[in-house]
Amino acid sequence: MSNPHGHLSMWWDTLPSDLVGAERAPLTDDIEADVAIIGAGYTGLWTAYYLLEHAPTLKVVLLEAQVAGYGASGRNGGWCSALFPASWDKVARGSSKDEAVRLQRALFATVDEVVDVAAREGIDAQISKGGTLVAARTAIQRDRALEEVAHARSYGFDEHDYTWLDADAAAQRVSMTSLLGAMRTPHCAAVHPARLVRGLAQVTERKGAVIHERSPVIGIEPGRVSTERGSVRAPFIVRATEGYTATLPGFKRDLAPVYSLMVATEPLDDATWEQIGLRERETFADYRHLIIYGQRTADGRFAFGGRGAPYHFGSTIRPEFDRDPAVFAELERVLRDLFPVLSGTAFTHRWGGPLGVPRDWYSSVALDRTTGIAHAGGYVGDGVGTSNLGGRTLADLILDRDTELTTLPWVGHRSPRWEPEPFRWIGANTGLRVMATADGAEERSGKPSARAAFFGRFTGH
Ligand SMILES: Cc1cc2nc3c(=O)[nH]c(=O)nc-3n(C[C@H](O)[C@H](O)[C@H](O)COP(=O)(O)OP(=O)(O)OC[C@H]3O[C@@H](n4cnc5c(N)ncnc54)[C@H](O)[C@@H]3O)c2cc1C
Repeated sequence: MSNPHGHLSMWWDTLPSDLVGAERAPLTDDIEADVAIIGAGYTGLWTAYYLLEHAPTLKVVLLEAQVAGYGASGRNGGWCSALFPASWDKVARGSSKDEAVRLQRALFATVDEVVDVAAREGIDAQISKGGTLVAARTAIQRDRALEEVAHARSYGFDEHDYTWLDADAAAQRVSMTSLLGAMRTPHCAAVHPARLVRGLAQVTERKGAVIHERSPVIGIEPGRVSTERGSVRAPFIVRATEGYTATLPGFKRDLAPVYSLMVATEPLDDATWEQIGLRERETFADYRHLIIYGQRTADGRFAFGGRGAPYHFGSTIRPEFDRDPAVFAELERVLRDLFPVLSGTAFTHRWGGPLGVPRDWYSSVALDRTTGIAHAGGYVGDGVGTSNLGGRTLADLILDRDTELTTLPWVGHRSPRWEPEPFRWIGANTGLRVMATADGAEERSGKPSARAAFFGRFTGH
């Protein structure tokens, strides 16, 4: 069977046919359920998975506007990391240092949880828990890396969680230009994101969930969600729409959709990988301000992405925004600059998608007990792992299970709403531009960028 969604990402394009499958039937009736979930990405599917794990007879219905895994879950960089977008200091300010550590340790455990569930449920997401290397390639970046490791020590994390590798030790793992050293954390697994989300959809259905595709929700009220052709009455409703949240009526200013874009190379031969390294499929980045992220895929490609695309006025989302030639060209230039051995390598795929950014860059998960409406999201590009913690937590909240998860500091966190336009457009794009130009400014001046530090504080990063 040909794959009608191959254009969405290299991941979709390389899915085995049994994971593409036929589309699921849309909702065409008025039905009842115990829990209605809007969106069949990781957040919605993990929530359904854990609900049914704990309460196998529950009636769980997912309504998906397109097809399961259509959103960021089928297009991302495949870092199943323990990253959280708000800094420990910020989390500690709203709770305590111990609570910030407790959240971080829950995120460490989440990486293993995803690896374990995939193995247990037979989801072949080509997972390798090789950790992450964040390279320092200038003296300023090295200072930043050492500061980060020292900061981790001040929170009680030892070298098993975050460690500094000097230039020789880093070069043992990866052969990258200008490598002065790297921060290594073992808490990340490289995954094939579309295999994970499509496999999870099948597993969730086997557990009893019903997924309706091509069923965009157009109205949410307590106890009821509606689509053009049907509705679901349910005491609990979960909003799992992340980067698309602004398109729902009443949620325009909750999460700003920001685009992340990616490119992938053709598969490289073994001799080339022998030169490059990344033998454990460590995910990699460096300490530049403009976020970049890469992984060595199971089929021997580089999948490499970064920010740099603009925020679109009015939180608009359109398929054509997934592609930005200037950003693609820059990503290809940066990857070749890191690994000159790629000078003659072809790039076979270019794609992108929206992710959800809360005004304070602080992800949240919550259940409003008076309305029965719940959500998890605002992961700012760290959702592959965090969505599992979000789904597990939502299941506990809905089932009223008293667990360690339901008191973590991100539970019930309320982010301020984004400004109305045009201020949202001006603010978001100014921030993106400052980060994009800060690296060049640092290179020229040899000094850390004060503007980037200011915006970093502003976003809480
Ligand atoms: C290019 C890119 C690279 C990324 N890289 C990484 C990474 O390496 N590591 C990491 O941790 N995170 C990364 N992220 C972020 C990560 O992919 C997301 O945080 C995560 O997938 C969010 O999952 P989700 O289920 O909450 O949202 P999504 O996967 O976006 O799912 C939301 C779903 O809701 C559906 N929907 C929208 N509106 C409606 C409606 N009205 N009715 C019904 N359904 C609706 C959408 O079609 C979609 O399927 C990246 C994101 C992008 C775009």
